[in-house]
Amino acid sequence: ATPMSVMVGVGKAAEAGVLIRNGQALQTASKITAMILDKTGTITEGTPKVTEIVPLAVEDEAGVLRLAATLEQGSEHPLAQSIVESAKERELSLGSVEGFNAIAGHGVEGRVESRTLLFGNEKLMRERQVDIDQHLEQAQTLAAQAQTPMYLAADGKLLALIAVADPIKADSVAAIQRLQHNGIRVVMLTGDNRATAKAVADQVGIGEFFAEVLPEDKSAKVAELQQQGEVVGMTGDGINDAPALALADVGFAIGTGTDVAIESADVTLMRGSLHGLADAIAVSRATLRNIR
Ligand code: ADP
Ligand code: MG
Repeated sequence: ATPMSVMVGVGKAAEAGVLIRNGQALQTASKITAMILDKTGTITEGTPKVTEIVPLAVEDEAGVLRLAATLEQGSEHPLAQSIVESAKERELSLGSVEGFNAIAGHGVEGRVESRTLLFGNEKLMRERQVDIDQHLEQAQTLAAQAQTPMYLAADGKLLALIAVADPIKADSVAAIQRLQHNGIRVVMLTGDNRATAKAVADQVGIGEFFAEVLPEDKSAKVAELQQQGEVVGMTGDGINDAPALALADVGFAIGTGTDVAIESADVTLMRGSLHGLADAIAVSRATLRNIR
């Protein structure tokens, strides 16, 4: 395309709240054959809320929530924020943590009131040999409802099951349909567990998804599709998504996402809506048509 038509295209996209950082991205967008969408914060709002607190030992609901929230104060993960927020709503006073550690793709650990706490997913509990077998079914039931179950353990013993739900953005279904109607293969990618991922994918009409993907493995999924011959678009909001956004043929960041994601992407969706993806592709196609 001529520099002039690219400028016009970039301007048109900007009117729709789609900021295209470079002319090359505008030209490549029309060639995208596969679009990878991160789940949390991209397809969903990214503001999960606590939905279930199931005490499994001596502590009551407030007791287990206070412990989990005390531990999560040190984490910036959206799941952590939902736990801390829920404790604040109940006006629980939080303690202090020693030896806090965030385990990417798994959860968090630390010492609270001289107990060693672990809070996170099934994978974390298995790796630390916490017995959760009696409660797996309940966790699976919550996951099948698109909730994310997390386990709290103290000194190797299970204390509670806490679940959160993250609402799907109101227009995600329609925006995903637009991509599919354009002949684009839409794939969902998430660190969340398989059952929750399946429930969300079903709700938004995505048939192909990768779940339980560790942060460092997200970009490998982009490479995998590229090796299959796809021209890959990647859309995400998190620090975790940055390498995948950089590797993709066109990276799209959610405007309300983290700075690292925005800096790694070619395009920023200022309105946070996934409609920006089909808008960008439409502008790109129109721009390339104009020069022929
Ligand atoms: P995503 O951003 O797709 O949720 P992550 O890799 O950040 O992916 O997290 C994957 C999973 O690891 C989460 O679904 C959750 O089960 C667990 N996890 C990660 N961080 C935390 C945390 N701070 N507290 C509890 N669980 C966590
Ligand atoms: Mg995300």
